[in-house]
Amino acid sequence: MAFIILLGPPGSGKGTQAKQLIDELSLPAISTGDLIRQEVANDSPIGRTAKSFMSQGQLVPDNIIIELFKHSIKQPKFSNGFISDGFPRNAEQAESFDSILSANKNLPVYVFLFEVSLDTLLERILGRQVCQTCNHIFHKKFNPSKSIDVCDNCGGVLTTRIDDSEPVVRERHSVYLEKLNPMLNYYGSRVIKINAMQAPEVVFQEVMSHLALAK
Ligand code: AMP
Repeated sequence: MAFIILLGPPGSGKGTQAKQLIDELSLPAISTGDLIRQEVANDSPIGRTAKSFMSQGQLVPDNIIIELFKHSIKQPKFSNGFISDGFPRNAEQAESFDSILSANKNLPVYVFLFEVSLDTLLERILGRQVCQTCNHIFHKKFNPSKSIDVCDNCGGVLTTRIDDSEPVVRERHSVYLEKLNPMLNYYGSRVIKINAMQAPEVVFQEVMSHLALAK
């Protein structure tokens, strides 16, 4: 199989594309944002430290996130490759990802960069709602649930992420931009740029066209 890395600002559709790729390629996905939110929900020591960074739109320190990631991908289901949503987020994490992957040199690595304007990101993120129970994502304007604040899938309660307020989204975006160039320099010609302003189905087709993968 392969390692598929999804890079892009918050709200660029990495999570949405990851879900489609899981189905299409039968590959598991890993999201460091989800791992961190789980730690916060468990009120673990890591979660308590991470929460203060997350709620201000800052990155969680590399040592914490790299350990969480390394630990998580030890699960056997990840040994044949996976889709990584939200890791790496800077050059240091990219380097450590490569060294983690060096044990699997035979598998191809695809690095996708989803490009979206800030105005579009704000519109997408500020309407976003997540089911507390099954994590399904809705959008008040683009993909509303049938009943207000209730998940169509499981009847769970829909909430807004603590880091989805406008000032925090703007901060997350500026942190993203600050870290982007060093990370792109690190990856060089390995980066495949995707216009993620397009409809999700079109983005998906474009991603698939770059993957020389058997289903
Ligand atoms: P996400 O769901 O990917 O938008 O991540 C939500 C938040 O979790 C981010 O704003 C960061 O505070 C933290 N986070 C997730 N992944 C990383 C990472 N690779 N490095 C540092 N912080 C991260």
